[in-house]
Order: sequence, then C-alpha cells, then structure tokens
Amino acid sequence: MKLQPGRLPSDPDWQDLLARASRGGVYGVTTTGIFCRFGCPSRPPIRQNLRLFDSAKAATAAGYRACKRCGSAA
Ligand SMILES: [Zn+2]
Repeated sequence: MKLQPGRLPSDPDWQDLLARASRGGVYGVTTTGIFCRFGCPSRPPIRQNLRLFDSAKAATAAGYRACKRCGSAA
C-alpha cells in the first residue's frame, strides 16, 4: 500500500520525540511504514523520515503499521 503523507514534525514535536515525552498523537516513519506513539522506547528515526498523525487510527488509515513495542494498545 502506498503511504499517505502526514504532517512534517516541528521543532517542538522533534524535541518531544527525543525526550520520549508522553503526549497525544503518533509518528510514522516513511522508510519503515511503522508508526509509534510518543514515548516509545524504540530508537528515534531520522527526522526527515518522520510524519505526524493525530491518532493511531489516522496513521493506520494512511497505510502505516503499529510498532510492536508501543502500538499493541492501538
Ligand atoms: Zn514504537
């Protein structure tokens, strides 16, 4: 499935990701087609490959699959 574009991360979004802040929304990684919740313990992806979505549902609808480490509750 072709991935649909999400929102590009802003600087605060990126900082939240690196800090593993607990907040709403999820981030997809274009190179893997996987999305994570903020706060996921997985290694941060390259910023250029990040796309943000408002919810796991939106990321799924865009063609991303849930991360095995943080997405099982989606
Ligand atoms: Zn994850």
